[in-house]
Amino acid sequence: MNMELPRHPIFTTEHDELRESVRRFVDKELRPHVDEWEAAGFFSDAVFRRAGELGFLGLHYPEEWGGAGGDLAAEIVFMEEIAKAGCGAIAMALGVQTDMATPALAEFGSDDQKERYLRPAISGTKIAAIAITEPDAGSDVAAITTRGVRDGDVWRVSGRKMFITNGVRADFLTCVVQTDPGSGHRGISLFLIDTAFPGVSVSRKLEKLGMRSSDTAEIALDDVAVPHANLIGGEPGQGFAQLMWQLQYERMSGAAASIGTAERVLADTIAYANERRTFGRPISGHQVIAHKLADAATELEAARALVYDTAWRIKQGEYPVTEISMAKKFSAQMLNRLVDACMQVHGGAGYLDETNVSRAFRDARLQRIGAGTDEIMNEVIAKRLGLGT
Ligand SMILES: Cc1cc2nc3c(=O)[nH]c(=O)nc-3n(C[C@H](O)[C@H](O)[C@H](O)COP(=O)(O)OP(=O)(O)OC[C@H]3O[C@@H](n4cnc5c(N)ncnc54)[C@H](O)[C@@H]3O)c2cc1C
Repeated sequence: MNMELPRHPIFTTEHDELRESVRRFVDKELRPHVDEWEAAGFFSDAVFRRAGELGFLGLHYPEEWGGAGGDLAAEIVFMEEIAKAGCGAIAMALGVQTDMATPALAEFGSDDQKERYLRPAISGTKIAAIAITEPDAGSDVAAITTRGVRDGDVWRVSGRKMFITNGVRADFLTCVVQTDPGSGHRGISLFLIDTAFPGVSVSRKLEKLGMRSSDTAEIALDDVAVPHANLIGGEPGQGFAQLMWQLQYERMSGAAASIGTAERVLADTIAYANERRTFGRPISGHQVIAHKLADAATELEAARALVYDTAWRIKQGEYPVTEISMAKKFSAQMLNRLVDACMQVHGGAGYLDETNVSRAFRDARLQRIGAGTDEIMNEVIAKRLGLGT
């Protein structure tokens, strides 16, 4: 977009420099390969290692563990820019690594766990996945049935995990396990499970509508012996609280990816509308087209303001769960409306696989489902508004 916006107070010149360096990575090292990776249904593992080398996988983690010691605003910059790679899959996969599979480990893990899992996740030498969802439990996390039973120094873990991003190639899972059935969310624990442990297998690689170059797996856990030393927090039963804490950051990260994708698709569509001619003029000269894109740009800026202002409140030490849920939901819905409008502006070309807008249209739909559906976000918001849900 050719709009110069004032810099929001959450950002500093360091964030501007970071934005430039992520843009260089995206332009030189990702975009040229994205079409090939999307067609193959898998992007190269080297993307994790290279992003790690460039310091992008630990922007908000302490320097002690190889991170950059930055803040949430740095992660927002990263997610916005990486989402402009020309597919949503890479942003999603790297977002899982940085904002979904590792925050609980960084916050509640032991030094030994951080040495074995966080440091290599930050350097990109180990790929991480978050394993919450199961074939029979998604939104209702407390209903999971993957079971862990203590047996001396190990926990024997059995169950099935579904829709696991990075699951085909992951080196370890941050896995949600029921360790005290009948206690609901108080029986939930988080374990670090190496995918090389005997009993862990990928039962299916799942094919998807969009996000095609990201791998998604169904994972079987058959009597896996997981060392007690891999239980995050050291005591069972703390997993639900750890998960709810980290979900807030995951939702901000997803919201930032929606903003970045929307910005890119809108910019491409404005360029197309100025170039494509019908009835003797560029289609942008038809008021209905210009207004459609003006509406899309307005919604994008409203979503951006909500995301940045929520990040600012987090920076002030608040824990604004209502606004985080609103930011996640609104930016996902905004993106879906925007890609729909942009596809319409592209006409038939928008429907072809070879056009960026068609991929964005497919990828965008997940933003309203993953990391908490629109409906679950509304449940959180409604409850906090004092509505009787
Ligand atoms: C491509 C992809 C990648 C994913 N990656 C991961 C991952 O890496 N790790 C992971 O653990 N999971 C992952 N997921 C799973 C994702 O988080 C879940 O799909 C999502 O949380 C919804 O759960 P569900 O699919 O079981 O739907 P359900 O929980 O069965 O919900 C079905 C529908 O009912 C609605 N609903 C449910 N409860 C209520 C309610 N109380 N009130 C109103 N409506 C309700 C939902 O909003 C939804 O519309 C991924 C999913 C996909 C598709």
